[in-house]
This record gives sequence, structure tokens and C-alpha cells, in this order.
Amino acid sequence: MASFRDLPIRPDLRDQQPYGAPQLSVPVQLNVNENTFGIPSEVGERILSRIFEIIPKLNRYPDREFMELRSSLARFLGGSLTASNLWAANGSNEILMQLFQAFGGPHTKALSFGPTYSMYPNIARISLTPYVELPREVGFGLTAEYVRSAIERERPGIVLLCNPNNPTGTPIGREVIEAAYAAFDGILIVDEAYAEFAPELSVLELLRGRERLVISRTMSKAFAFAGVRLGYMAASPALVDAVRIVRLPYHLSALTQAAALAALDFAETMLANVELIKLQRDRIIRELADMGLSPYESKANFILCGGFSDAAEAFQKLLDHGVLIRNVGIPNTLRITAGTAEETDQLLAAIKGTQG
Ligand SMILES: *Cc1c(COP(=O)(O)O)cnc(C)c1O
Repeated sequence: MASFRDLPIRPDLRDQQPYGAPQLSVPVQLNVNENTFGIPSEVGERILSRIFEIIPKLNRYPDREFMELRSSLARFLGGSLTASNLWAANGSNEILMQLFQAFGGPHTKALSFGPTYSMYPNIARISLTPYVELPREVGFGLTAEYVRSAIERERPGIVLLCNPNNPTGTPIGREVIEAAYAAFDGILIVDEAYAEFAPELSVLELLRGRERLVISRTMSKAFAFAGVRLGYMAASPALVDAVRIVRLPYHLSALTQAAALAALDFAETMLANVELIKLQRDRIIRELADMGLSPYESKANFILCGGFSDAAEAFQKLLDHGVLIRNVGIPNTLRITAGTAEETDQLLAAIKGTQG
């Protein structure tokens, strides 16, 4: 049987592996930062009724411009945003891919600051965009001066700032984002995948007058809708128009649009567990520190924790106890999603059992 490497695949892809965290079915799954509270039944009923309404029209292509969904997303974000400022795709990974297709390419460098979201280099590679990841400063922070001088030195066409940052949970100050925008004339992408856990960090208000700024969001994390695949962005109408050039026609199915509209009808209900998740996050941080481990502060729904003598071994021992977390490849360090109180109980008991 031939391997894909025997096919005339692009040489730059020949040594790659398909990206993705292990998908294992175990009792406690805290590895990909999902909201582990389920979908409330009233929202499930609205999803069904929204989908039932469109079934007679499924023989037709969906609304290619999905104006109803873009209006609903604009209302959800608030401020003076309208449908012309919004765009959506199958997860914010697709949003990022469309941005790289429109603004990246072989002659445009993309810059970010690591450790950060591991899909950035993949999306850059797939879109043939050179990618540079400079190290973050102490405690994984970033200062305006550091980011400004990095941008002036590297001369990127795209800068990616993840706020709060995955996998570290670190916030980025507003002054850093303002300084980054002013330091170049390319596209600044602020990835706010976890914004609902720290609304005070959002820079949506900076959009006014900044037509090269993009704020990427997703319904996969706080919104408890990872299975639907709905990511979106807010930006200037001109930037949205640029993305419309590269999107495949009808990329957002009518079923996806209907499900997302239903969830937005119940946005408050969908986000009702955010505060409970933050309580569990802070409890996990306290208890890991009490065990002698080294958790970092986090503004998101996950914790990066150092102090494991062997991260790969600790990961495997926890898995043997039915607890799946994430080895993000930082030495002695693992990333843990905060979920329900019961999941925290099982997680902490498992860690105690393996560290003791
Ligand atoms: C999870 C995540 C995303 C993408 O998630 P989608 O499910 O594709 O919307 C984007 N950025 C960061 C930083 C993430 O952690």
C-alpha cells in the first residue's frame, strides 16, 4: 500500500503529519478547551426548530452571504458593529486560513510570539506564507516596546496576537495591541478565541478607524458549540470584502447557519457557565500550587502548569486514570482545561495519585 509520501504531494508537505490532539474516549476529557457543560435542552429545541424551518429549502444552496447570521453576530458583539463588519466560517481556524489566503502568500511574512496557538505555523505553511515565531518575554508576557521593535525588525505583513494566549493563558495589554497596529502597515489579527472568559481584555472598541485590524472569535470555547464549527471575525467592511474574494462559494452550510442562529438566540444561556468554569480554573490553580506544581495565572478556561518532572509520563499516567489533558510540547509542562466541579475532583485526585 502506497503512503501519501509516494504520491506527487507538495514537497513542503511530505514530512508533515495531520495536525490534531489525540481524540480518545475517556471519562474526563480536558484536552482541547471545550466548554464541558452540555447544551441546555431549551437551546437544543431551538436548534431543532431553526433547522426544521429550513429543511424545505435544503435543495437550494444556502445564503452565500449569510446576512441573517452576520447581523445576529453583530448584535451579539454590540457597539456600532453591523453585518458588514462580520464574517463567519467553519471554525475560526477557517477564518484564519481565509485571512492568510487573502493577505499572506510567499512574499508576506507572518509574525507571532510563542509559545502560542500551534495552528498558526500550520496555517502559514498551508498558505505558503513564511512564518516567524519570536519568544515571549518573562512569564510569557509581552510589552509594547518589545512587540514594536520586533515588528520594525521583522517587517511582517501579518501579525498574530492571541489574547488571552493559548496555551499560556496570558493576557495582552491594550497598549501592546495599539503599539503593534501602529508599528506596520499590514494586517493585525487579534485572536480572541477565549474572550468570553475575560471580556475586559477584548479590543473590539479598537476597530473604529483601524481598517487593518481583525478580531477573530469562535463559538467553540465558552459558547459550548465546538461540534458546530462556527468561527467569526469582526473587522472593517473593506477587510471583510477582501476575505470574500478567497472564500469558497457557499462555504457555510444552511444547517450550520441555522444552528448558530439558534445558539445566538440563547447567547446568555449558552454562556451561563462561564463564571462556574472560572471558579474551577482558579480552584485548579490553587490546588496544583499546593501540590508543589507551578501553575501559571490564566485569563482563559485552561491552565498551563509546570513542575512535572516528566510531562510525557505524567500525561500518560493521568490517561491511565481516565483523565485526558494536553501535552503542548513545553518541557515539564502540561495544559489542563477547566470544566465542571466533578471533573476537577477527578482531575485533582488523579494528579495526586500520580505525583505522590
Ligand atoms: C480553539 C482555538 C481556535 C479555533 O477554534 P475553532 O474551533 O476553529 O473556532 C482559534 N484560536 C485559538 C487560540 C484557539 O485556542
